[in-house]
Amino acid sequence: MTASPTQPNPLEVLSSAARGAAEAITTALARLPPLPAFPGTPRRPSSPSAAAAAAAAAAPTLRAAPAAPSSPPSFPGARRSQQHLQRVSKDELGRATWTLLHSVAAALPAAPSRLQRRAFCQLVHSLAELYPCAECADHFGKIVDARPPERAVAAEGGGGARQWCCEAHNDVNERAGKPRFDCSLAAARWAGLDCDGDGNSSCELAGPGAAPRRGR
Ligand code: FAD
Repeated sequence: MTASPTQPNPLEVLSSAARGAAEAITTALARLPPLPAFPGTPRRPSSPSAAAAAAAAAAPTLRAAPAAPSSPPSFPGARRSQQHLQRVSKDELGRATWTLLHSVAAALPAAPSRLQRRAFCQLVHSLAELYPCAECADHFGKIVDARPPERAVAAEGGGGARQWCCEAHNDVNERAGKPRFDCSLAAARWAGLDCDGDGNSSCELAGPGAAPRRGR
């Protein structure tokens, strides 16, 4: 079929209509509001030019992405991390932090050096500032303000630090609705680090004022 000079070519009419429809769809898509940003969801580009830029930026990454591993990664703790979606729970962090704090206090000598006293107190104050659970840090900060560790450590050295930790931990236990711990058992519970995991080794405290390290 041929079009007369006065009548438009029907193929051209169809082609032009299809171009118009495609442009209308592109414009409508570009005006849609952005998708909510779930973790790991790529954001929708805000404009066609942003889309082009995003595509260009993503292309090398996509090309370079390694194939999905057929076996779990081999770094320590990988299995646990995968089961927990790689998030640390508040309880896990709490147990780990208390373990650190009680273990540090357990390692302090009866008469710590000035540096050791200061470092221990700084550790406590740092937790009140940096503990990554706002309500925990806030409550712990109040405990530290009400009963500064400096006093206990200056008066009673390492023993004072251990007692301070037990009492501060009990304040937190109380707030969390847990039973108080008998502080006369704290020395047995936190008897110092089992350095090699063989039940009868212990680690030395580093730093000035500590016992000299073997081989130095
Ligand atoms: P944990 O309380 O973590 O204790 C670990 C182990 O320490 C126990 O199994 C026990 O053997 C021993 N222990 C217990 N009490 C004492 C003690 N007084 N002295 C010596 N040893 C003891 N959780 C909240 O829900 N709200 C909070 O506001 C909050 N604030 C926190 C602030 C800090 C600085 C820290 C480190 C943790 C905080 N947590 C808080 C977490 C909470 O204290 C627990 O760590 C968490 O709930 C896990 O509890 P758990 O029963 O496993 O034992």
